[in-house]
Parts: sequence; structure tokens; C-alpha cells
Amino acid sequence: MSTPPRQILILGGGFAGVYTARYLEKLLRPEEAAITLVNRENYWVYQPMLPEVISGSIGITNVVSPIRRFCPRTNLVMREVEDIDLKNQVVTTSPGFRPRQLRLQYDHLVIALGSVSNFYGMPGLMENAMPFRTLADAIVLRNHLIHVLEEADVEENPELRAKLLTFVVGGGGFSGVEVMAELNDFVHAVKKNYLRLRDQPHRCVIVQADDRILPEMSETLAAFAHKILRKRGVEVLLGDRLVSATSERAILQSGIEIHCKTLISTVPSAPPPVLRKLDCEKEWGKLLVNTGLELKDYEGRVWALGDCASIKTVAGTRVPPTAQHAIREATTAAINIAASVRGGKRDEFAFEGLGTMGSLGHGAAVAQILGIKLSGLIAWFLWRCIYLMKMPGLNRKVRIATDWLLRLLFPPELAQTKVAPEPSIKKQHFEPGDIVFHQGDLGDNVYVITEGECDVLREQDGSQRLLATLGHGDYFGEMALLSDKTRNATIRARSAMNVLIIPKFDFNSLRENVPAFGDVFSQLAKRRAFAGQQHSGLGSDAGRVDP
Ligand SMILES: Cc1cc2nc3c(=O)[nH]c(=O)nc-3n(C[C@H](O)[C@H](O)[C@H](O)COP(=O)(O)OP(=O)(O)OC[C@H]3O[C@@H](n4cnc5c(N)ncnc54)[C@H](O)[C@@H]3O)c2cc1C
Repeated sequence: MSTPPRQILILGGGFAGVYTARYLEKLLRPEEAAITLVNRENYWVYQPMLPEVISGSIGITNVVSPIRRFCPRTNLVMREVEDIDLKNQVVTTSPGFRPRQLRLQYDHLVIALGSVSNFYGMPGLMENAMPFRTLADAIVLRNHLIHVLEEADVEENPELRAKLLTFVVGGGGFSGVEVMAELNDFVHAVKKNYLRLRDQPHRCVIVQADDRILPEMSETLAAFAHKILRKRGVEVLLGDRLVSATSERAILQSGIEIHCKTLISTVPSAPPPVLRKLDCEKEWGKLLVNTGLELKDYEGRVWALGDCASIKTVAGTRVPPTAQHAIREATTAAINIAASVRGGKRDEFAFEGLGTMGSLGHGAAVAQILGIKLSGLIAWFLWRCIYLMKMPGLNRKVRIATDWLLRLLFPPELAQTKVAPEPSIKKQHFEPGDIVFHQGDLGDNVYVITEGECDVLREQDGSQRLLATLGHGDYFGEMALLSDKTRNATIRARSAMNVLIIPKFDFNSLRENVPAFGDVFSQLAKRRAFAGQQHSGLGSDAGRVDP
């Protein structure tokens, strides 16, 4: 009798996750393994080119690659990973359109969830500093830059105009330097289109905690990069760091305050929250693995790689969080997973890196490859060739090469691709008989009826009982949110009904910060629970059960 395929579950669709899936597709036949990958987007981001989205050198969707095309034999689940249960080998994801979580059982697990910005202990940064990791971050920053330029053009107050024209980046590593270089190039290039800004100076500042920028590179190349940035008008503050921020200023450890409306932070980073509660050995919050990239106590079953893992090579070198390492780690993990599935030789991570490269924008870069140091135009040309070659798919390569060519011929795009943010509280309409939610669903929203009526129904022993009818001004759905349990009644529209929907996050924020609001719902929930028990012995999720 043939054995069913092993369930391989990969969490995270960045460099580490997608390359693991791709290698596994090559190493294992479909009869041997079913591969599933969970990621919150259906694409992976080619982060080394992300800063070029700021200036529009590369079109927005050309820096991402659809996972379904890159890994054609992998099942993609576009959801948020909410919980990892290592003991029972189950991963729980967020609900989708239907408010039910997915539970994914696995035989082998790969954790490759990258990192997130961590502003713990830095008041005001969460609210005011823009991160730069995802495609959404790049688009938001680009739109924000255009917005401040538009405002600066009409602003009469010189102080506010100066703030609008000041740009601060926290972090002088690769991403900080590349972001600032692109931002500065963009502002320089488009300022001439703003009649009142043409002759106005703008200020760009990099704040770096170390005593030099680009600590990943040799001192001479870092000094070259520093000189180029200074020549282009970028100030570099060394030996200082961001400690807090308001909507008007960035505050540094030294006490310096920089008045600005644009603050970007590329440091510090931490593993994603879902990994913080994971019960396993960690180092600086990262998952500690052996040279086979296996999690301690879960060898042969769980692997961790990429930015979320703490890895040492066979030679004992600590592995830096870069894309070139993540891709090689994926090869090691895939070989070892295949060995666990069907036996065979195992691999140990021994890659020591090929070198480092960083773009300084505007025809300059620094590169240190296989011991050779390059800077200026030649390094910039090499940077472009290497990253273009590494970009998967001819389609993407042609698009990016075309974007670069067009950028050489024409000025950068200045149109703002503004997308209206989803309103958190929104309206919805239901026709008679429509179900608002089912008993057993997760509590995701609270509803306020603005027009029409609905029935509160309890399913019990295969039958459905009417508990109550609600009308204009009534609200429902709060019980599941307050108790963090699933819905214990179904709500069905009795007539055409309009409601206001308050999502869980906003409901909880209001409850925590406006005590009177919270009290109303807590007391209502108590009354309803009591009335529900009188009715059915179970407690009611919703409903004026004694109308
Ligand atoms: C601006 C910038 C420039 C860079 N430039 C370079 C460079 O030039 N060269 C280089 O080698 N490296 C560079 N890096 C670093 C490199 O991109 C990272 O080291 C690499 O992306 C790490 O890969 P990863 O798979 O571990 O994480 P990521 O690529 O971050 O992927 C993690 C994935 O997990 C997903 N995820 C996270 N949490 C959840 C969750 N709870 N549920 C579902 N999905 C989740 C994320 O959406 C993401 O898709 C750069 C990084 C940045 C930010």
C-alpha cells in the first residue's frame, strides 16, 4: 500500500520561504510531498530593488513576483499566521472572507517569517516613523513624499515649509543609505516642477548609531559612500540614534531635535510577534537552529531560516540577515527536508557570503565582491547587472530593464497613486434572509442597526430557535468580542437592513480608551448573558431576548 504524501508547510513567502518551496518542488515528487506555503501577500518582494520604487525608477509591481508562478506546484494560502503549535503540529491562520480560522496540520514545518520593525521603548516612533520593508511601505512613502512637496509648494509659513522639506532616515546600514539616496534623487529631480520650491533648499539627514555608515562594508568603501552622500547634500549624524518622535520632530539620544514631517526608520528589527510566543530556544528573540537549520528539540520536523532565525555556519560565523544568505539557507533546508522524507545525504550550512553591494543612486554604488572593492559608476553598473540577473523570470527582467532605460531618458513619474484607506467603521446592507454571521464564527465586528430588523437564532440539537428580534438603534455581536469566544447565535436579516460595522480592533481601542463606551457594552453583555441563560440555559451572544 502506498503511503500518503508528507505534508510540508512553509510559513513566510520571502526569499527564504519561496526558495525553499521551489527547491522542494525539484527534489520531491508530488506523490512524496504536498507543499503548502502561507504568506500574507500572494507575491514575494525583491527587497534589494525596493528603494527604487520611491523615485519611480522601477514600476510598482515590477519589484514583486507572484508566488503562484514562481512555485507552480505549491499550494499558496494567502492568510496571516496567527498561531504555531509545535507540540501538536498545527498552524492556525487568520480568517478570510468567512470568519473561520484555518488549521493546517503538518509533518514538516519551515518557519521563514522574516522580521518586523520594533519600536519598543521608543515613544512616538510607532505613530510617526515610517518603516521600509514591504511594497506597501514603499508606495506609502512615495505618496507621502509627493504630498509633502505639494503642501510645501502652497505653504506660506516658512517654518512649516522647512519642516515639510526635511527628510530624516534612522539607520545608516544598506537599507537606510539606499532609501535616502533614492529619496534625495527623487526630491532633487522633481523640485523643478514646483514653481515655488525650485529655489528652496531641502534637508536630508541620516542618523547612524555607529561611528560610520555601512558597517557591513570595508572602511574605505563606507568612507567613499559617505563622501558621495555629503556631496549630494545629505547630512550624516554619526554616533547618535533616534529615541522618540512626535508628528513635528525626530528626537535623538544626544538631545538634538530635527523638525520634520518625514521620518523613516530602517532599524531596529525583531522577529514577528507570532514567533515571540513560540516555546523554543531563541537568541535575541530569533529562533535558534543548528547548522542543518533545524529547531532544537524538533530536529527532522521543524526548520527555521532567513531573518527570523539565529544561524551560524559550519565555520562558526554568525549569518547576517541578507537575501543572498536566505536563498542559500533555503537550499540547505530543502535538502534536509527531502532527506527526512525519503532518506539520503543531509546538508550543513557553510555559505560565507560572496560580498556586499549598495546603491547610492544617481550612477554610483559601492561593491565588495570576492575581496575586490569597487566604487562609483562601475560598481553601480555591476549592481544593476547582478540584481537584474538574479531577478527571477524573463518577464520581470525585461520590465525592469525597460524601466531603467526610460528613467535615463525621461524625468521621474510625479503622479501620486493615492489609494483611499479602508474606513475602519463602515456601512453594510443586507436583504431579507441574508445571514450576517453564523453561530460558531469568530467574533470580528460589532454591528449597530441603522435601519430594518434582524432575528437572533440559536442552533441547538439540529433545530433553530428564535431568541429575539432586533431593530433600529440596537447593536449586536459584542459578546464574542468581549469574551474572545466564537459566536453563539446566528443573525439573519428579517427585513432589508442597514448596519454600521465596527471592527474588533476599533471596538477594543474605544473600549480601552473611552471607559464609558466600554461600560455600556460590558453591562449589555452581562444582561444578555443572563437573559440568554433564562431562555436556553446557554447564554446569548446577541439579542434583546426580552424585547
Ligand atoms: C530595503 C531593503 C533592502 C535590502 N537590500 C538587500 C540587498 O541589497 N542584498 C541583500 O542580500 N539583502 C538585502 N536586504 C535584506 C533581505 O531582503 C532580507 O534579508 C531577506 O528578505 C530575508 O528574507 P526572509 O525570507 O527571511 O524574510 P522576508 O523577505 O522579510 O519574508 C518574510 C515573509 O513572511 C511574511 N510574513 C511575516 N509574518 C507573517 C505572518 N504572521 N503571516 C503570514 N505571513 C507573514 C511576510 O509578509 C514576508 O512575505 C534588504 C532589505 C530591505 C528591507
